[in-house]
Amino acid sequence: MNSGEDSNADFASLGISSALIDTLTALGYEEPTPIQREAIPPLVAGRDLLGQAATGTGKTAAFALPILEHISADATRRLGAPHISAIVLVPTRELAMQVAEAIHRYGKSFGARVLPVYGGQSIHQQLTVLRRGVDVVVATPGRAMDHIRRKTLDLSHLRTVVLDEADEMLDMGFAEDLEAILSATPPERQTALFSATVAPRIRSIAKKHLKNPVNIQIEVERAAAGEMPRVRQVAYMVQRQQKGAALGRILDIENPASSIVFCRTRTEVDELTDTLNGRGYRAEAIHGGLSQEQRDRVMRRLREGGLDLLVATDVAARGLDIGHLSHVFNFDVPSSPDAYVHRIGRTGRAGREGTAITLAEPRESRMLRTIEHHTRQKIKIEPVPTVMDLRERRLESTKSAVREATASGDLDMFRGIVEALASELDVMDVAAAAIKLAHEAAGNRGEGDEDILPVRAPAAEEAGARKGKRSSTSERSPKGAEKTHRQSTPAVKKDGKARPRMTRLYVGLGRRAGTRPADLVGAIANESGLSGKDIGTIEMGDGFSLVEVPEDAADAVIEALTGAKIRGQRVNVRRERFDGPKRPKK
Ligand code: AMP
Repeated sequence: MNSGEDSNADFASLGISSALIDTLTALGYEEPTPIQREAIPPLVAGRDLLGQAATGTGKTAAFALPILEHISADATRRLGAPHISAIVLVPTRELAMQVAEAIHRYGKSFGARVLPVYGGQSIHQQLTVLRRGVDVVVATPGRAMDHIRRKTLDLSHLRTVVLDEADEMLDMGFAEDLEAILSATPPERQTALFSATVAPRIRSIAKKHLKNPVNIQIEVERAAAGEMPRVRQVAYMVQRQQKGAALGRILDIENPASSIVFCRTRTEVDELTDTLNGRGYRAEAIHGGLSQEQRDRVMRRLREGGLDLLVATDVAARGLDIGHLSHVFNFDVPSSPDAYVHRIGRTGRAGREGTAITLAEPRESRMLRTIEHHTRQKIKIEPVPTVMDLRERRLESTKSAVREATASGDLDMFRGIVEALASELDVMDVAAAAIKLAHEAAGNRGEGDEDILPVRAPAAEEAGARKGKRSSTSERSPKGAEKTHRQSTPAVKKDGKARPRMTRLYVGLGRRAGTRPADLVGAIANESGLSGKDIGTIEMGDGFSLVEVPEDAADAVIEALTGAKIRGQRVNVRRERFDGPKRPKK
């Protein structure tokens, strides 16, 4: 069976035609997400729409595919008419780039021309592309207004307007710009408004600008208390490009007895399977592109104990008879709370213990909160385990292996060797060396991994951004300050060109504890992802040290070191207080 056929049929039944479907299949999409299922048909039919959905639900394709459907069917375009067919308004430049890239990818088969338009980018370059002809403009409201004022953005033939993340745009002070942009478009246009929350002010915009809209909410039945399995639920915030490394380290720490890793697309499934096999795990892919014979082979290997883990899409996993699993990993946040509940239902069955671990990008943290809200269960956000955690864990397991071996007896043969060695060596040294050998023989997987940068959920920044509402004019200030609104940035200096502003941290360990500057540098580098050269002067006192770190990384360093151990001791770390300790004597 090849369910690729089925997924085609699925998207086709929503009104998407074959050229676009081929692209989706090539991207590894196996079926529409809930928001796509509900939003695509009315949008293809030309209806207005008010959708409540967060990032991570597949919302971009939900509005992009109908737009592309209309463009590809537009005969005048084929004759070379240079009209802009749709404009998508988004709150930030990052989102403008992401959405433009997604639309470009979806519309590749017929060469859809997409232009992201945001502040901080050369307006002349934008003008050149606009003059050549563009199908879809993805713009931040401020920059769109600049173009409208200059009469360089002709929206008079526009067919569709999308307001994406409308609540964020209002929070950022773009209400007037939105009004002005909408009034520059033809009144008969189609309007789709997406927002994570539908607050009264969103309703009032919808009432004013949407015509008899279809209302869509990714409505989920709340799981009844008894239906949800008892599962330890954890999420790790991690940047996309580091997910493979992070998953590897988490697998090493968790050491699951049996597990499945869920991905969104079959492309992702294949790539991740390769990565995991490259890292020494026995992983097999399961997705809709496999033949029945291939699936049977994988399942046989699983049953015979020849596999550490399965990597699967939701669709492919649905038909699998694999019983209880100790761990479920979500390589991405699932596209709906329902999908999350389905996935994690594979662990914690029949009163047994289970663990569900989700890797989330900072921009998906809203979706995590939606899932928590619907399942009425907490998903604990934790930092990705550090190399030190891993080392500690491995030492612990060596310790318990030695303990077990002592308990099981059967040591006579080896006791003789100890006696012989003890005549020339210290018994403590003999024991330590034997444990070292056992420890190393158990393998050293993962310790040499690249550092994984700590990333925090953007909740704090979002709140900060809300407080500092800005007007659209600030978008024209140098290098648009909008950057931090959506995504927390890794706590590292980016290009090493200018020395960043430094802050001094108080670390409650000094010379008396035998601490050396190298221990502090090592711990900070290991725990926080900073490199040694990012760390400034270190002053050592008897009972404490003062360490200079880049100001923008200070909080991440404090967080990373809190609870960590340096030379076997837990440390107290905070910013140096003005009334704090006197400088250590040189
Ligand atoms: P969005 O909510 O639009 O930011 O999309 C979140 C992620 O889901 C993106 O990485 C998309 O590539 C992916 N995605 C969107 N629709 C589907 C689908 N039908 N199947 C699998 N992945 C999808």
